[in-house]
Amino acid sequence: MNGLQAAVQAAEDAAVAVRTYVPGYPITDLAQALACQISVNEKVALEIALGASATGLRSLVVVKQVGMNILADPLVISATHGIGSGLVVLVGDDLGPRGSQAEMDSRFYGPLSELPLLDPRSPGLLHAALLEGYTLSEWLRIPVIVRVTSRLLAAGERYLPSRPLPVTGQRFEMDNWELTAKGRHQRHHDRIMAFAQEASESSPLNHVEIIGSIGIIASGFPASLAQGLGVSLLAPGYSYPLPDRLLRRFIDGHRLILVAEEPEPFLESMLSANPKIRGKLTGHLPRGELERSDIIRALEKLDGRPDKMPQTYQSAAERGYQGVCPECPFRAIFSALAKVDVPVAGDAGCSIRATRPPFSSADVVYGLGSSAGVASGFAGKGIALMGDFALAHSGLAGLINAVWQRRDLLAVVLKNDVAAMTGFQEAPDLSAVLEALLPTRFLDLPAYEEEVEAAIREELARRGPSVLVACGRCTKRVDGRQK
Ligand code: SF4
Repeated sequence: MNGLQAAVQAAEDAAVAVRTYVPGYPITDLAQALACQISVNEKVALEIALGASATGLRSLVVVKQVGMNILADPLVISATHGIGSGLVVLVGDDLGPRGSQAEMDSRFYGPLSELPLLDPRSPGLLHAALLEGYTLSEWLRIPVIVRVTSRLLAAGERYLPSRPLPVTGQRFEMDNWELTAKGRHQRHHDRIMAFAQEASESSPLNHVEIIGSIGIIASGFPASLAQGLGVSLLAPGYSYPLPDRLLRRFIDGHRLILVAEEPEPFLESMLSANPKIRGKLTGHLPRGELERSDIIRALEKLDGRPDKMPQTYQSAAERGYQGVCPECPFRAIFSALAKVDVPVAGDAGCSIRATRPPFSSADVVYGLGSSAGVASGFAGKGIALMGDFALAHSGLAGLINAVWQRRDLLAVVLKNDVAAMTGFQEAPDLSAVLEALLPTRFLDLPAYEEEVEAAIREELARRGPSVLVACGRCTKRVDGRQK
């Protein structure tokens, strides 16, 4: 059984009734195996889960690491607002990163949102962490975050017996409104996080092995890599709140400690006041993803100063980024954008494939749904280039703001009716919304490059915001599936 199957079994064992997700690496396959329903963005995905929880249904939200930034607002509020039935946010960190614009460590959302965050190291413990997450979430009436990575999802383990978690049907309690926001925050610190702290100290997810005077404290998948190295190991089940008493006893009982975690020195930064601590901050381990060989090398150098490793920065050429597909219907758009002399804000999605030669047709890309807002800030008229899923995700809000604030920009929407980069999930058709909002022109593709360029130039000559919807069928798509 791999991590993906373990998560599916946990969701069945907990009878999770409402499951939402937003596609993206590394969680698309996981979310689809969990039969999650797609949402336009992560904030809406969490809001649906909160509504389900408030009315007595267990819920699950599956997002990638940068998706945490989108759902952060209701997540932070839910910590002190309270919920009803169990709610777990299952977040996949893209280490590398392999399919994201940013490498990010979601564990920082534990202390930021003041919510428990569990970081299992194996498929079996992912199953256990999800069940513990639902139990804790219902006991404390707060969401719980569980973090996974691609290697954890792919890792194998023996068959896991099913462990049903009886449904409570617990609903949101209206007496929460008797306290102010300040009062709820005081209660959160005094009571709720104090209980979470005890849960972290006594969790069966904690793993301790004592061998000799050197110890490793490891979080998540690196704890699996750190097993069997002939030194002590403490793998806490919770990354937040940390089991402080357990950690203190472990550190006190050893001469030196290596902290193995990825991608950032999250635990190490909390422990670094102790001179016994070694890890990424001290240069004993590299930043980012870890290998077992990194841990072995660090143990060999633990007493001394680590060798300074030469820094090489991964280039796009070395990585071999995927370009625009040869038969892509939007190639004429990318070519035309390279010819018109205005700044272009791109978006996550297939338009990001056109940022490099031969097209080089977008200047900046600040994330999914960002292009309309970014182009609104350009010095002079510019173009916002986005796919139809990016438009639905959060791009539409940028366009509404552009209309409201009378910004001078042209939005070019690549309408292929799917989120092509994440597996051809259906994208909503917002044509009628666009037509109601601002001047909208449709262009069917494929078309001659001259015709496409002329259409873009005509729209650029218009004052104020407008949109050109380029309609094409993704040639990689066959009835919703990749060729
Ligand atoms: S996946 Fe489809 S939309 Fe994206 S570049 Fe390839 S053909 Fe074009």
